[in-house]
Amino acid sequence: MGYTSVAIDGPAGAGKSTLARRAAEKLGFLYVDTGAIYRTVALKALRAGVEPGDREQVLPLLAGLDIRMEYGGDGEQKMYLDGEDVTQAIREHRVSGAASRISAIPQVRDFLLEFQRRQAREHNVIMDGRDIGTVVLPQADVKVFLTAAPELRAKRRLLELEQRGQSSEYDAILRDILQRDEQDRTRAISPLRQAEDAVCLDTSHLDLEQSLEALLSIIKEKIDL
Ligand code: C5P
Repeated sequence: MGYTSVAIDGPAGAGKSTLARRAAEKLGFLYVDTGAIYRTVALKALRAGVEPGDREQVLPLLAGLDIRMEYGGDGEQKMYLDGEDVTQAIREHRVSGAASRISAIPQVRDFLLEFQRRQAREHNVIMDGRDIGTVVLPQADVKVFLTAAPELRAKRRLLELEQRGQSSEYDAILRDILQRDEQDRTRAISPLRQAEDAVCLDTSHLDLEQSLEALLSIIKEKIDL
């Protein structure tokens, strides 16, 4: 029997990872955060002193790339780069922008495609990203496009950073979110867009629990659990 897959795409800060993780927990599925994979490649570039948007500089890094993904007992997805646990390091602010730039390089996307697809061949997954429903898992059983107004996404991101003890400014976060959205939407390859058969879930006026409930009901409508 094949495995079930749920694809969740949407712009930065829409709550994809929080909601996908919670939904995966409820359903007993594996949660795959594909942004973390791009972030890990971006960190490699930053550490190598390479500009993440420069294809000529980035390509030589791919051949020797040592990336691993592991799951802790609590279901947390851990990322390893060259054997080192970089799960925290990839959350740094500079890595977000770098991930957005490096992910526009077609060879980087191609390189990571099989890595992502393999997860869905081997597990029931909820996978989140920008192109899961359109490119990575076009046959996904459920596709959701999760979005919210940019100002709300920025507010939520600020709160999340504060909870992690990192200080930041609302204006800077909003600017960063708008810039990443623009970069992700306008790139030539695998741009961020809603798949034709995706259900759009706008969480602008929903709190976390309401959003989770809405997401679970979309999923349960499409698959027998
Ligand atoms: O989801 P997250 O914000 O961690 O992703 C970081 C960046 O990685 C995004 O801004 C996007 O440019 C890129 N990304 C992507 N395709 C995915 C997941 C993330 O291009 N499937």
